[in-house]
Amino acid sequence: MHRTYDILIVGGGIIGSSIAYSLSKRTQGVIGVVDVDLTGYWGSTERNAGGVRATWEQPTNIDLSRRSIAFYETVANEVGFRQSGYLWLHDDTAWDLAQPRLSLQQGKGLQVEILTVGEIKNRYPFLDRLGGVVAATFSPHDGLINPNLLKLYYRNAATAKGVLFHNQMAIESLTVEGRQCRKVRLCEMREGTEAFLKTGEIPKRGSFLEINVKILVNAGGAWAPRLAKLYGKETSVIPIRRQVAVVHSQDVDLTPYGMFVDTSGLYFHPEGGNILSGYSPSLEQPGYRFDHDGYEFFLQEIWPRLCARSSHFEKLKQVGGWAGLYEVSPDMSAIIGKVEGLDNVYEAHAFSGRGVMQSYAAGEALAELILHGKYQTIDLTSLSGGRFTKGQLVPEGMHI
Ligand SMILES: Cc1cc2nc3c(=O)[nH]c(=O)nc-3n(C[C@H](O)[C@H](O)[C@H](O)COP(=O)(O)OP(=O)(O)OC[C@H]3O[C@@H](n4cnc5c(N)ncnc54)[C@H](O)[C@@H]3O)c2cc1C
Repeated sequence: MHRTYDILIVGGGIIGSSIAYSLSKRTQGVIGVVDVDLTGYWGSTERNAGGVRATWEQPTNIDLSRRSIAFYETVANEVGFRQSGYLWLHDDTAWDLAQPRLSLQQGKGLQVEILTVGEIKNRYPFLDRLGGVVAATFSPHDGLINPNLLKLYYRNAATAKGVLFHNQMAIESLTVEGRQCRKVRLCEMREGTEAFLKTGEIPKRGSFLEINVKILVNAGGAWAPRLAKLYGKETSVIPIRRQVAVVHSQDVDLTPYGMFVDTSGLYFHPEGGNILSGYSPSLEQPGYRFDHDGYEFFLQEIWPRLCARSSHFEKLKQVGGWAGLYEVSPDMSAIIGKVEGLDNVYEAHAFSGRGVMQSYAAGEALAELILHGKYQTIDLTSLSGGRFTKGQLVPEGMHI
């Protein structure tokens, strides 16, 4: 490792990798990314559902996704981006809420179609149980992406420009003097990664080194609040387990389609000949939990909701599933910008379930702020962490 970094990014998930990529296009300085596990085994990026959409309630979220989608279109084959659309089913209550959102989305130039129940049946004949559905929206430019390929795309391009990715390095502590973070103490972690990520515990016998930093970036995903504590900031961001089930249907081949979002909050989409389906129970408690409830989760949360939409889903076989962490902010929008009260610490985290789809534009914007002192392409001032104490929330209601 170098003794001094111009910019050190903590976290090599999709967000840290994207920031590194965007910085590397603009500056020659010494840029490093440190991660306790660069494979991202526990990270949210590798446990993601791959959905990409610009259809949000908040203008900033629309802009972040739309700008990212424009980029994904240019590298679609390399990152497995398929614009197969999002079909969103609405019941009475949701349809009332959908009207102003639709006006905003269409006003921002998004192509969003409204489908009647008859049109839904014609286009998706397998959806033969549409009780309670009053209409649907379909956004053809949204779709599905391969998060792993996208992360590797950013990383490979950044590496080619000289960014150094350091694996098995955990941040143990930081030296903050006045408004500056000056030093980072790292622990070389050959083992104990799981315990560290679940509890924050650093092995006592590890080997430690100290480096100097000119700029520090917190891209620690669901662990960003722990990092923030090291520079003296409390955040209200919480990690929450989210589970998905992979199921097989003999009757329905979803391959030609994109993402479906049901009135119940269930989502599903094609996944390599199977169906990936997720649901977020409201009673899930915060915490660094990765256990998957297996067949129980499928039986209680997924199967009944799928069956409620299609008789063809009565025969399904659960073939897998996993759990990962959402990093949820109080208003369900990301936190991006310079950390209040510190001159050389930046943050990009708390994407609340949309970090992959917004990663490109978020990385570009933060790189601009770091290098030029202000946003150039997209103004993300409203997403700064200081908004919560000022009561200037960016409440995003279209999360799943
Ligand atoms: C089930 C599920 C489905 C999802 N579906 C979607 C979707 O369809 N579309 C979408 O856009 N998003 C989705 N998300 C959300 C998305 O995955 C996340 O928003 C995104 O991956 C966050 O990326 P990140 O780089 O911030 O975090 P991560 O990928 O978690 O990376 C953070 C990294 O920081 C490292 N780290 C943390 N602390 C330290 C430390 N002290 N020292 C060293 N390293 C450290 C970790 O090891 C980790 O690799 C989903 C998430 C889940 C769990």
